[in-house]
Amino acid sequence: MSTNPARRDAIKAIASQPALKGTFDFRSEKIDLIYGQNVFSLEKIEKRLPKDVFKSLKSSIETGTKLDSAVADTVAAAIKDWALERGASHYAHVFYPLTGLTAEKHDTFFEPHGTGTLAQFSGKALIQAEPDASSFPNGGLRSTFEARGYTAWDVTSPAFILDGVNGSTLCIPTAFVSWKGEALDKKTPLLRSMHAVNKAAQRVLAHFGKKSSFISASCGPEQEYFLIDSRLFHLRPDLYTCGRSLFGAKPAKGQEFEDQYFGTIPDRVLACMMETERECFKLGIPIKTRHNEVAPAQYEVAPIYESANVAHDHQMLTMTLLKRVAAQHGFVCLLAEKPFAGVNGSGKHVNWSIGGSGVGNLLEPGTDPHANAQFLAFCTAVIRAVDKHQGLLRASVASAGNDHRLGANEAPPAIISIYLGDMLNDVIEQVKKSGAASSSKKGGTMHIGVDTLPVLPKDAGDRNRTSPFAFTGNKFEFRAVGSAFSVAGPLTVLNTILADSLCEMDNELTAAKKKQSDFNKALESVLKDILTKHGRIIFNGNGYSEEWHKEAAKRGLKNLRTTPDALPELVAKSTVEVFERQGVLSKAELESREEIYTHSYVLSVNTESKLVHDIGRTMLLPAALKFAAELTPVSQSKSGGKLRKDVLALADKLADALDELDDLRAVTKSNTHAQAHHACDKVLPAMLKARGFADALEDIVSDEHWPLPSYQEMLFLR
Ligand code: ADP
Ligand code: MG
Repeated sequence: MSTNPARRDAIKAIASQPALKGTFDFRSEKIDLIYGQNVFSLEKIEKRLPKDVFKSLKSSIETGTKLDSAVADTVAAAIKDWALERGASHYAHVFYPLTGLTAEKHDTFFEPHGTGTLAQFSGKALIQAEPDASSFPNGGLRSTFEARGYTAWDVTSPAFILDGVNGSTLCIPTAFVSWKGEALDKKTPLLRSMHAVNKAAQRVLAHFGKKSSFISASCGPEQEYFLIDSRLFHLRPDLYTCGRSLFGAKPAKGQEFEDQYFGTIPDRVLACMMETERECFKLGIPIKTRHNEVAPAQYEVAPIYESANVAHDHQMLTMTLLKRVAAQHGFVCLLAEKPFAGVNGSGKHVNWSIGGSGVGNLLEPGTDPHANAQFLAFCTAVIRAVDKHQGLLRASVASAGNDHRLGANEAPPAIISIYLGDMLNDVIEQVKKSGAASSSKKGGTMHIGVDTLPVLPKDAGDRNRTSPFAFTGNKFEFRAVGSAFSVAGPLTVLNTILADSLCEMDNELTAAKKKQSDFNKALESVLKDILTKHGRIIFNGNGYSEEWHKEAAKRGLKNLRTTPDALPELVAKSTVEVFERQGVLSKAELESREEIYTHSYVLSVNTESKLVHDIGRTMLLPAALKFAAELTPVSQSKSGGKLRKDVLALADKLADALDELDDLRAVTKSNTHAQAHHACDKVLPAMLKARGFADALEDIVSDEHWPLPSYQEMLFLR
């Protein structure tokens, strides 16, 4: 046990915590009874609304169109009654500003009335609110004189009740827009992109003689996270300020035993997970999977996939609940991408597909020739989209936190490529060669729309961890997304670039059909052209390898290593064009985003570097010097003398490195972009240098003096 008093007390408390007592029991409390109890679902709405009002609302929900304001009052009254019956005292418009977090402003239903109060909730209060929005980042979209922003109910995502310790709040998912209608949030473009992909997919489907009431993008996000004991966490200013450790010597035991992944979940953790899941179930979040992850103290939770917009809202809620329930169990949930150096970081795999009623999942290979033609068309559209907009996709997962993870030989590299697996790759290669259809690896040659596809094996998820974008049976899995990210950004990009690729394909098919009356042949020629041009994005090998980096460069693929390198892609010509063409984001909206994210990067590095300086200067250096002073009486001895000399030498180096860091921190550049590059190229390396000396000190300074809980303690005590 640590002999440092603060750490010793924390460890004592952990070691002597009372045996776990559950607050509920899934054996007696049946999941199906609590499932969705806090959601104002369609079934509940139907029971409470007149038929015509319900019909109008339902059509808004299904097609994502605006609610008829004439019915809003009736709907609001029904929601209010339900919420009051469930004990809610307040309501809140929940929105998703560009900070990447969830924002909410609460109002009570109750207003003074005569000598008492009356519960009020009008249609207007349901549909629209005007939070004081001037403090949210807008990247120049709003000057202060028109600082108003509006939240507008997103009817496609159901209202729900969030239970707190002292009461409950009715939450209404909303989009957040400026006075002029510009998107100030992450949901607005996601909703717009859902419409874009629907429209475009219908155009291509029409060539196959099909249509659907709405083609929707689906998302199943897998969330990785760490759980750390809160008593240790609170002794680490780096963790409680920026969510990741800025110091910490390599522990004797890390993840090298490979004994954690899918291992038995510790009791205390399992109790916490179950309670989180219970809160999710109440909110209708379809949590399915839980398991230990690769790093010690790392876990994963995953739901069943849903419509991308609902999945987004549920994912944001899941992150909130993970943190909240962890706190109730004496844990802290770390969502940062790289909380601990030397062990795996956390990602968020965004599983994504498109489909609709009547046509099913359009990325499902299917079993007959007709299905194969359609599948290959949509799959090829994705391949082109990803190749054309690889930089944009990289930018959609760029953040200071994720930079520590991407390309670190545990997560996909910063180079975007697509993994198809051997089987599908073989098919695609044949399509690329065919038209005339010559030879193939597996004997015969596939003809689109004539032959059936071979049965494609489902990639077991982790089989190719090294690929940032993998086809896994009937969906694509975008694995470069960071664990702290909102899925809205990556999903918006995926939907938008696919929509654009599909629109182009519609035009190409129309043109090809004029030259070639056989549809399958026309399709073959279109797909062949696309794959010839964009096949370079496909890579089925090891993404970690040095050869791939060389090969990717030869293929002309982008390798945007850092956030300052990647973010300008948000305003690249091709990005502005695709977003404007698809009506998802305007140039001004994109510019504001790029500005905000760049600024946020600078702020992150600034905060971290100030902390490195402060912790180094006021906690670690004093600890080292105090220890050296205590060694003075024994410095005549061989071991005492050497130790004291080593400590002092490292302390001097640490002090110099902190001075250097201080100087670099003080540099101000003329604009945010230059500042971001300075932060990335100069400040971050200086932080690492200081850390190196501090970590070396941690290895030799008496444990009694070291103030920061060690990696060993944080990763293994629970
Ligand atoms: P793993 O990646 O661990 O092998 P799965 O691939 O089965 O696990 O599922 C991971 C996630 O992908 C889950 O959230 C699941 O619901 C989701 N998913 C499965 N099918 C689809 C689909 N067609 N579209 C979007 N997400 C999907
Ligand atoms: Mg997966």
